[in-house]
Amino acid sequence: MDKFVYLFDEGNSEMKELLGGKGANLAEMTKIGLPVPYGFTISTTACNAYYEAGKSVSPELRFEIYEALATLEEQTGKRLGDTSDPLLVSVRSGAVFSMPGMMDTVLNLGMNDETVEGLAKLTENPRFAYDSYRRFIQMFSDVVLGVDVFYFEQLLEETRDEKGYTSDPELTAEDWKEVIGEYKKIVKKHTRKAFPQDPKEQLLLSIQAVFDSWHNQRAVVYRRLNKIPDHLGTAVNIQSMVFGNMGNDSGTGVAFTRNPSTGEKKLYGEYLINAQGEDVVAGIRTPQPISTLKDEMPDVFDQFVETCNHLENHYKDMQDIEFTVERGQLFILQTRTGKRTAEAAIRIAVELVNDKVIGKQEALLRIDPEQLDQLLHRRIDDSFVRQHIAKGLPASPGAATGQVVFDADEAERLTGDGRKVILVRPETTPDDIHGIISAQAVVTSRGGMTSHAAVVARGMGKACICGCEALKIDLKNKQFTAGDTVVNYGEIITIDGSTGEIMLGEIPMIEPELSDDFRTLLSWADDVRKLKVRTNADNPQDSRKAVEFGAEGIGLCRTEHMFMDASRVPVVQRMILSDTLEERLEALEQLLPMQQEDFEGIFEAMEDRPVTVRLLDPPLHEFMPDKEELLVDITKLQLTYPDSPELKEKEQLLRKVRQLDEFNPMLGHRGCRLGMIHPEIYEMQVKAIFYAAAKLVNKGMKVIPEIMIPLVGHVNELKEMRKLVVNTAEQIADETGTQVDYTVGTMIEVPRAALTADAIALEADFFSFGTNDLTQTTFGYSRDDAEGKFLQAYIENKVLPENPFAVLDQNGVGKLVETGVKLGRTAKPELKTGICGEHGGEKTSIEFCFNAGLDYVSCSPYRVPLARLAAAQATIRNSKTEAVVK
Ligand code: PEP
Ligand code: MG
Repeated sequence: MDKFVYLFDEGNSEMKELLGGKGANLAEMTKIGLPVPYGFTISTTACNAYYEAGKSVSPELRFEIYEALATLEEQTGKRLGDTSDPLLVSVRSGAVFSMPGMMDTVLNLGMNDETVEGLAKLTENPRFAYDSYRRFIQMFSDVVLGVDVFYFEQLLEETRDEKGYTSDPELTAEDWKEVIGEYKKIVKKHTRKAFPQDPKEQLLLSIQAVFDSWHNQRAVVYRRLNKIPDHLGTAVNIQSMVFGNMGNDSGTGVAFTRNPSTGEKKLYGEYLINAQGEDVVAGIRTPQPISTLKDEMPDVFDQFVETCNHLENHYKDMQDIEFTVERGQLFILQTRTGKRTAEAAIRIAVELVNDKVIGKQEALLRIDPEQLDQLLHRRIDDSFVRQHIAKGLPASPGAATGQVVFDADEAERLTGDGRKVILVRPETTPDDIHGIISAQAVVTSRGGMTSHAAVVARGMGKACICGCEALKIDLKNKQFTAGDTVVNYGEIITIDGSTGEIMLGEIPMIEPELSDDFRTLLSWADDVRKLKVRTNADNPQDSRKAVEFGAEGIGLCRTEHMFMDASRVPVVQRMILSDTLEERLEALEQLLPMQQEDFEGIFEAMEDRPVTVRLLDPPLHEFMPDKEELLVDITKLQLTYPDSPELKEKEQLLRKVRQLDEFNPMLGHRGCRLGMIHPEIYEMQVKAIFYAAAKLVNKGMKVIPEIMIPLVGHVNELKEMRKLVVNTAEQIADETGTQVDYTVGTMIEVPRAALTADAIALEADFFSFGTNDLTQTTFGYSRDDAEGKFLQAYIENKVLPENPFAVLDQNGVGKLVETGVKLGRTAKPELKTGICGEHGGEKTSIEFCFNAGLDYVSCSPYRVPLARLAAAQATIRNSKTEAVVK
């Protein structure tokens, strides 16, 4: 029979899957002798069994819970429901992967009309006892009985007003007694039952509520966002309560062993004197910085610092620790690996290596490549003279501009309409998660650096400012004031999450640069990785940026983007519209020097790195005016100037546009099919490449052009196009007297090419997998339509695990990639292979490419650092030998 319940001294940190992160760490801390209040954990297997049994607690589980409870009573010397010295417990969720604030918690369980009296006598603090009871009623009613906290808060507010108080600590024991009476009436009214007095019933109901909260809406959204599987279930931790609200020698707080925003090695956190744990996280009172605890409770502070060091050394990583001080005695309630920004993650990893706590390999594996994205975003231009209207806590770095909104639903709606918004709230709760996901950034007027908004935003890499008390937010009138400034709903603000500043309007931003620690980490990645990393770039500026980020070449230079420039479109259109070859050649002649200049710029920017230039790919009508717009213009002209030459011209244009019109342009006259039918277009492009290369070679530079033919499906296409390239290159070499080394290869982006890769390889020096088109043609999904029409629903309904245009479909498209590599290399062992679809910058796809034996991945410049790290991780994870990095 499965064992469902584990005492804290029966587990350890290795048992996360069974006990959840929190339970496993509580057990580990108990094991290493830290002051953890006694308790036990109900396993995730019990949660799954509960769901399998149609949401019912089996007699076996109930038996084990009561058995563990009896041990807990022995350990603490207290009994649940005892009227003179009652045991009170907390009931908390604890998933395998941390899901902060997404599931439910009940504190002070065990309070009832009798135990409250006992607690009052025992502590000689009736005020504390009644306050604890009313907190319990409020929390239990909300979490377990489904009575909205609003009713309780409203009553509390009325009581405060009536008695002329401004804050809760002013309420006396008698006041709390009255409040409790009213609270019970609220419960009776909404549940038609009296508030449950039996502590064992309270316990079982709370456990069930925590199990149920695994499937509440915010938990489901959070799991989807963080790719946490639904089947894991949550554990439940039952722990004897310690109280931070027993007077001024008590308190509660949270601290990180290092700064979670910057990574600085300095204790970082906050606490509240005379408060319960939830008060800090909820952000209702703004807490004190942890450093001042040294003055208020020097002995406790020293013990806490020592414990923090102990925990960080034990786990070899930055910890996020919750503690409570009860009448001068320190208790540790939780430790977990602290969530951190990308900047902090890198600094911490590098410093831990420098301090010889972990090795380079471990450091590389600790950073999520996706997280690096945060560091590659824009920040406010340093030369801009800032004038802030308010300043709050810098809770999550980065800058953002957007329209002010005050509501999470509104944030989601406007973002859906393509707007950029900043969510401004007094505080956020887990119910606001969808708004935080949608918004560019989050601002709150209350709460500290560990409040909900701060923790969630940091995890997502979103800029966030917290505790900006200067903001007076008026939710009803949808505006906030900061001093004399009034900012209304919809107005644009810019925030800097690194400094906490809020500014009016849009502000110039600058491109990011890599920090020294970032460069160090990436250099370790480069030492390890086997996959090369190139970039997709089609202009000198992007090429330079990519080189700065570590790109080792260009894997895809899309030449069509060069045709889209406004000054060139008329020439391109003339080339397309020409009725005779002579006319077309004339237009191409005009385009040639422009293309040549483009290539010179790119070759120069890439210095001696290889540059894969892809010849023209999209259907020609993409360069033509829109058919609908032309029709409107023609109709207007027919009505106003029926004899005008302009009308004639437009009619002729329309005829040509109609000729080029296709039912399925993505499967139509594009890719190498253009070069096959209009070889003069490809000839012009190849000439431009070789003139540019010859010019730079003559200046003493090394140029390695790799000419790539798109959308090849049959070897004969490549054979003919290769001939065209070779002949043209020879012609230019004769003309310029300069020999340039080059290669000719093809994209593999239709299934037939992958399936006949052995034949195709005979004509190719390299293959580059165009997984955008390969995904389109393998699934038969139009890449222009699928995402907007049905893919979202497919992913939500779990028909597909991921968007295959973002994450490579390894079982389908991946099989074609593997087949292509295998067949290609069988025919030509020295064949170079790479990927240049969007998947080349996605971490799981990169790992797949490594395992498929590709030589390189190519991605957009801003994803290059991510790809370098992901490539290193792929090497480490998939290498047989242990010590890849020294
Ligand atoms: C591809 O199809 O994967 C590719 C890189 O080419 P494009 O996106 O330009 O069609
Ligand atoms: Mg393509």
